[in-house]
Amino acid sequence: MTIVFVWCNCATPPFCRHYYTGERCPFSGWIAPHVTDVLKAVKRVEGSGIALTIKTLTDAGLTLEAAERVMIAEFPDRADVPFALGVGSFGEDPASILTLGKDTKPGPHAG
Ligand SMILES: [Zn+2]
Repeated sequence: MTIVFVWCNCATPPFCRHYYTGERCPFSGWIAPHVTDVLKAVKRVEGSGIALTIKTLTDAGLTLEAAERVMIAEFPDRADVPFALGVGSFGEDPASILTLGKDTKPGPHAG
């Protein structure tokens, strides 16, 4: 099964920066930026019967700005799919994590 995660920077300690699936962040209840647009694009792609990829989401009208917050993961059908994963999700200290890209500073409220 293919699961679409969206980047969330709700900064709810200790789960400060993470991806989640669904409408609301399981840690804070927050609806991250672009989630509604992402979920609409996912519905359009799934309705057309083609594979979910970043390209098919943008072809379905998702903006590049929104697509930059998307991660698509594939799991075996019987796998336990996490509601969220990312910095802090596995118990590590968020300050211990370095990320690639624009935000290279570690810290619980960065990003
Ligand atoms: Zn969150």
